[in-house]
Amino acid sequence: MNRLLIIGPPGAGKGTQAVKIAEELKIPAISTGDIFRKNIKEETELGKEAKSYIDSGNLVPDSVTNNMVRARLDEADVAHGFLLDGYPRNIAQVHELDAILADKNQQIDRVLLLVADNDELVARLLNRAAEQGRTDDNEEVIRHRLKVYEEETAPLIAKYRERGIVKEVDGLGEIADVTERILKALS
Ligand code: ADP
Repeated sequence: MNRLLIIGPPGAGKGTQAVKIAEELKIPAISTGDIFRKNIKEETELGKEAKSYIDSGNLVPDSVTNNMVRARLDEADVAHGFLLDGYPRNIAQVHELDAILADKNQQIDRVLLLVADNDELVARLLNRAAEQGRTDDNEEVIRHRLKVYEEETAPLIAKYRERGIVKEVDGLGEIADVTERILKALS
């Protein structure tokens, strides 16, 4: 079964790759960052709650994020698998995701770890800031997001390694080459 996570630092290319991999595997790509940004744009209650955290590069509180993910994983299109991008992002969210899936007798099958070095990450994010104008892509916030990743998200990797389900993939190089590497790692 394809119940997959993609984990990696900001700028590693998770979102780009998640869309391609999900298309290939015919499963939905679920990006918590995208869901938040859509809600901010549409000025929903959820968007209003999340905005200040996102703009400062901090995690949105678990109480908000967990409910959002639980609701998304209750939708019909995830019946045959999914690729989660951006969740879980801290240890409490790992436990929450385990609980959400356990309620359905399910579990995460594979974790893709996308790696790249810090200088490359900052360069990519600054470039994206210029192109897409994301409000959380200025240098100060970028450095803070990398720090939050190191402190809160990177420790998750050890948890999933204990389960023997982590596949590490080099995120450097052409987008299509990275996609190939990921598909190979999954096969
Ligand atoms: P990045 O490319 O930096 O990894 P994302 O698009 O995944 O960015 O997320 C952007 C922002 O959305 C994060 O910095 C955070 O504020 C918020 N966010 C996304 N996913 C989560 C989550 N699982 N828990 C808390 N906050 C989240």
